[in-house]
Amino acid sequence: MSVSSFKKISRKRKILFIVDSEGAEAFSDLLQQSLSEKIPFDFHIFIEGQEAMLKTWFNTQKMGTYLYISGSAEFVMMVKELAFEAGFSEHEMQIVTRGFLPKKLICCNCHSENEAGDNKHVKCRLCGQELEASNHYSRRLDAYLGYVTIK
Ligand SMILES: [Zn+2]
Repeated sequence: MSVSSFKKISRKRKILFIVDSEGAEAFSDLLQQSLSEKIPFDFHIFIEGQEAMLKTWFNTQKMGTYLYISGSAEFVMMVKELAFEAGFSEHEMQIVTRGFLPKKLICCNCHSENEAGDNKHVKCRLCGQELEASNHYSRRLDAYLGYVTIK
């Protein structure tokens, strides 16, 4: 199991933290920062069956609200879908997944798709380019853009 971590909050807009029952730990640093820098936030621990409630919650948020999601792969997928439906874009959220989530990387060199799993670094299967997962996610391709690894 690999756990990546969230980047520091860089903008002072409202934040929604949403976690499943085991995901809360990933937020401890960010919560600390939000409190000390007086960044407004809501914190919600999701319990099964609250999809409708979550939907309403997302739909009532103001533009510019930023989403942090942490939990199991299924949980994160579910929350992401609800958020997209409510009008959030991938640029308005950060995600940390617990456990394995198959991830695709698009090679920046030859544009082929590579299975990356939880790996940050992958060698392109077609052109051999060393790739690093970026934060640029394409919903259309359901994949992340892979950048050339700088060594
Ligand atoms: Zn390639």
